[in-house]
Amino acid sequence: MPELRAVRGDITEQQVDAIVNAANSSLLGGGGVDGAIHRKGGPETLAACRALRASHYGGGLKTGQAVATTAGNLPAQWVIHTVGPVWSATEDRSALLASCFRESLRVADELGARTIAFPAISTGIFGWPMDDGARIAVDTVRTTPTKVEQVSFVLFGDDALKIFAGALQGDQGPK
Ligand code: ADP
Repeated sequence: MPELRAVRGDITEQQVDAIVNAANSSLLGGGGVDGAIHRKGGPETLAACRALRASHYGGGLKTGQAVATTAGNLPAQWVIHTVGPVWSATEDRSALLASCFRESLRVADELGARTIAFPAISTGIFGWPMDDGARIAVDTVRTTPTKVEQVSFVLFGDDALKIFAGALQGDQGPK
C-alpha cells in the first residue's frame, strides 16, 4: 500500500519517477495539464506521442486507458498519459475515471516507477465536480494493488487541495 499525499503545486515541477497527464485522446497535446506537460516536456515528449499515434494508437488513446512516454525535459522520468471522461450529468462515467487511476498505476508498475504524481483528472476542462473526482481518485488508488511506494495528488488551487486532503482523511469536507 503506497503512502498517499495531497500537495499544492504544478504537476510539471514534481520530482517523481512518473507524472500522470490528463491527456486527450489525440495524445498530441491540449489545454490545462496536457498543454503544460507538452510545453515543458518539449519535442522529445511530443515525438514519443506522435510515434504512439503512428503505431499502436492510430485511433488515439481510449478514455480510461493509459500509456507511458519519456518525460523529455521534465524532472520526472516518464509521463503516463491517460484520458479522463468528460463529466456527464445524465450518465455515470465514474468507472472510466477510476480506470484512469488504476491503469496509470498498472503502467507505473510495468515501468518500475516507485513514485508517481497525479493531477485531478477530468476536473478541469472536462468538468468533473472536484469532490466526486477526489473521492474516486483516493478510493481507486487505495484499492488498487501496486508496487508504487508514494502517490502524490498534485492540486493547482487551495480549494482542490482541501478537498483532496479531506478525501484522504476519509471525509469529503464541507459541501
Ligand atoms: P481535464 O481535461 O481532464 O479536465 P485539465 O488539465 O483541464 O484536465 O484539468 C485537470 C485538473 O488539473 C484541474 O483541476 C486543473 O485546475 C488542474 N491543473 C491544470 N494545470 C495544472 C498543472 N500544471 N499542475 C497541476 N494541476 C493542474
